[in-house]
Amino acid sequence: MADSCLFCKMVSGAIQPDKVYETPRVLAFRDINPQAPVHVLVVPKQHVATLNEARPEDALLLGELFLAAREVAGKTGIAEGGYRTVLNCNADAGQTVFHIHLHVLGGRPMRWPPG
Ligand code: AMP
Ligand code: ZN
Repeated sequence: MADSCLFCKMVSGAIQPDKVYETPRVLAFRDINPQAPVHVLVVPKQHVATLNEARPEDALLLGELFLAAREVAGKTGIAEGGYRTVLNCNADAGQTVFHIHLHVLGGRPMRWPPG
């Protein structure tokens, strides 16, 4: 864990997130600044700063983020209507927290392409 990492503090319980779903390897919690009626972040419990740092041995973990997103969509009632998953990597994508996280957004129509 990176001592200064906000999402590692959520995983350790040093900061209490608004938890939606959890497995032994991933944690999902509500975004503090929601961009849609449902906006949940899915994070690996293991610290990985950006997708650029992911290694081949992280493949199962990355897959589990998407399976967790599916569970979150079901639990929050957006599975049938539809939802978007987003993983921002580095500055041009707007990444602000350097512990990878999958955004799960739903509850309203999404535009394409994203801005
Ligand atoms: P990104 O811009 O992809 O790095 O996304 C980081 C996300 O973390 C943003 O949507 C923030 O609103 C969210 N965020 C920042 N601090 C917190 C927090 N304390 N609890 C929940 N979400 C947070
Ligand atoms: Zn971290």
